[in-house]
Amino acid sequence: QSGEIVKIQDQNAKFLALGYINPLSEITLRVLSFNDEPIDSEFFSKRIKNAIKKREAVALRSNAARLIHSEADMLPGLIVDNYNGYLGVQFNTYGIEQYRSIIIEELIRQCAPKGIYDKSDAKVRRKEGLSTTNEVIYGEVAPQILINEDGVEFEMSLIEGQKTGFYLDQRANREIVSRYIKNKDSVLDIFCNAGGFGLHALQKGADVTFVDLSQNALSQVESNLKLNNLIGEIIRADAFEYLTQKLQEDNRYDAVLLDPPPFAKTKKEVHSAMKGMKFLLQSGVKLAKEGGIVAIFSCSHHIGINELLDLAKSASKESRRFIEVLETMRADIDHPYIVSIPNSNYLSGLLVRVY
Ligand code: SAH
Repeated sequence: QSGEIVKIQDQNAKFLALGYINPLSEITLRVLSFNDEPIDSEFFSKRIKNAIKKREAVALRSNAARLIHSEADMLPGLIVDNYNGYLGVQFNTYGIEQYRSIIIEELIRQCAPKGIYDKSDAKVRRKEGLSTTNEVIYGEVAPQILINEDGVEFEMSLIEGQKTGFYLDQRANREIVSRYIKNKDSVLDIFCNAGGFGLHALQKGADVTFVDLSQNALSQVESNLKLNNLIGEIIRADAFEYLTQKLQEDNRYDAVLLDPPPFAKTKKEVHSAMKGMKFLLQSGVKLAKEGGIVAIFSCSHHIGINELLDLAKSASKESRRFIEVLETMRADIDHPYIVSIPNSNYLSGLLVRVY
């Protein structure tokens, strides 16, 4: 039955693992443990404790972090984020849904949150045979939550934000990219969302233009600018149209930062996604001043660092510019990359200097 715990054995009936099953799902079985142990509140208590412990290094830099990242923390189907004492949770599978009350109880015990918001609204829930929910399930959740990341203040909303509220996975990369930004640099933050990359650049004294299609995201940028006492230019536009227009003008930039949404959620979409990424990177390279930098990210594991490097090679050839790799990047450590789970390495980034 959907949600039941099953034992997985090899052909010699040797125990391999315990998992939960869902005949309705494309992923029929997800592993919970490689030990033959009871799946009870003690089990979840241990898992949650270990996951929180892994994030100690992040806590030194920010009061917002992903506490539990599904399979990468051996709790498949469960996402838990902490935003300054408010938890955002997602139960994405039928199997993990069965343990909802145990898990919530354990989170309250270990994290003592001010409130918990259940954002189990992902489409995958329907494929799993579950309905979606979006509501406060414990305590109170402020409509706007203040978080701090490497000295930059952000306001975010668990209730209205995209994804689970804030792009926590880019935390380390926002800091890495900002190391290459200097006072008075001109910076384009394309697909800016709440303005993470641009705000870090502004703190370095740069002039930043924020571009996004979502009004909601741009309102967050506006509040975040005020919060940090910074000034930037905000433009609501489709990134592809905006870049096309900029290529026709004479302006060139010290930094072009491109952090698009996932274009290739499935393998089938890779071809068209690569075309989109190619356009973005080529535009970035052409818009960069001599010695300027370009950062591009892919948040689909189908387009990884090798694909980004290939795109950079062809951009170099096409635009006849010499391109130097400064950094390769991936998701921050609160989104662990497990070697045996290739799609846990879902975020790749490349930072280059263009001559
Ligand atoms: N850089 C951000 C995260 C970017 S997420 C950060 O560090 O927080 C991707 C963003 O792209 C979303 O905010 C989404 O609104 C925006 N977006 C999606 N399609 C777009 C398009 N065609 N043009 C401009 N922005 C777009």
